[in-house]
Amino acid sequence: MSARDQVAAIYQQVLQRNAGEPEFHQAAAEVFESLHVVLERYPHYADGGLVERLCEPERQIIFRVPWVDDTGAVQVNRGFRVQYNSVLGPYKGGLRFHPSVNLGIVKFLGFEQIFKNALSGLPIGGGKGGSDFDPKGRSDAEVMRFCQSFMTELHRHIGEYTDVPAGDIGVGGREIGYLFGQYKRLTNSYESGVLTGKGLNWGGSQVRKEATGYGAAYFVAEMLKTVKSSLDGKTVVVSGSGNVAIYAIEKIHQLGGIVVACSDSSGYIVDPKGIDLELLKDIKESRRARICEYVETATHATFTSGGSIWDVACDVAIPAATQNELDEDAAITLVKGGVVVVAEGANMPTTPEAVQVFRDAGVAFAPGKAANAGGVATSALEMQQNASRDSWSFEYTDDRLARIMTGIHGRVVETAEDYGMPGDYVHGANIAGFVKVADAMISLGVI
Ligand code: GLU
Repeated sequence: MSARDQVAAIYQQVLQRNAGEPEFHQAAAEVFESLHVVLERYPHYADGGLVERLCEPERQIIFRVPWVDDTGAVQVNRGFRVQYNSVLGPYKGGLRFHPSVNLGIVKFLGFEQIFKNALSGLPIGGGKGGSDFDPKGRSDAEVMRFCQSFMTELHRHIGEYTDVPAGDIGVGGREIGYLFGQYKRLTNSYESGVLTGKGLNWGGSQVRKEATGYGAAYFVAEMLKTVKSSLDGKTVVVSGSGNVAIYAIEKIHQLGGIVVACSDSSGYIVDPKGIDLELLKDIKESRRARICEYVETATHATFTSGGSIWDVACDVAIPAATQNELDEDAAITLVKGGVVVVAEGANMPTTPEAVQVFRDAGVAFAPGKAANAGGVATSALEMQQNASRDSWSFEYTDDRLARIMTGIHGRVVETAEDYGMPGDYVHGANIAGFVKVADAMISLGVI
């Protein structure tokens, strides 16, 4: 059987075994697209059911999360943790609290995380978790009670050497605090390394909050370097206005770019002078309010309710909101507007059709498993600091992050070249990530 047929047969099994999970199918298809290239060169990677084992999570935990809301009513949510692959280190990946969360979404995120974490070059396996709980509009006390109930089950499955969750959409410093507090109480031990994204005065790392966004900006700077260019003077659009978007904007501004638009689920703002970051942080971080409030203060800016942020012409686009937010039509519009670089700040924000549009147009496109790896990489730095009971300065940690992103960029570019696909970040990232995990799986035997 040809390598292509082998991969197609395994993909069919994945579809059958994981029916009704379109996002997971999409994430698997993206990796499988590169797999036959590797198997053609190194057929031994198809031995020992390696690919089949890689597609099947080591463990999937689903649990009830009952909690009492502020009116005294009992609410019931569903909690998940998918412990996907631990050949490179403890399972590592965030928790997402959002009404769209289901098993398929957590599996897609966990699968991506395996390769992202491998690419980071740090000793971390892949996992992901979350709940269909919606923190939007909930009081701090409700969020706390939910987090305590969630951790009451999760605590028995995690640990510094087992599984180390962190944040993702809907899970930031507040939630990590409540989760850590409950873990500490249940286990009667101050095991700092069990969660990352902690507060700075109780075991957290400098730069962790900023890391995914900063990392994406560093990655874009590396991409531009390959065409002898830089972010200086570039017009940038960043979708979203959460943790990733805010700190991508901050670093892009520091590197000389001008971010003219960002968004939330209600619509997008355009500020031709460049997004006023203090104002954005006040709205989103301090007040958890809607983005339309931006134009009440910055009256020269505009707010568009609904619509597509990708209608805003730019040199660099960073989708940093959520999966499948940038579709084929949006990609065509961006190409017409002159985009030269697209880097995924979120996980799988670009549809496969949109990726193809960028490929055909010769636009440099970086997948999330490379471009947004800075967050989880800095989580691994937080684990290092916790293990050695140390805490590093902001500058030192930021420098480590910048080097890690340069390292990932280099590995991806070299791999793409080595396999005869220069400039193809998708194949480069998939192949480099896969080979690292696959080699470790072979060494550890059939487990
Ligand atoms: N949720 C982030 C990601 O998608 C970070 C996970 C972590 O720090 O463990 O990579």
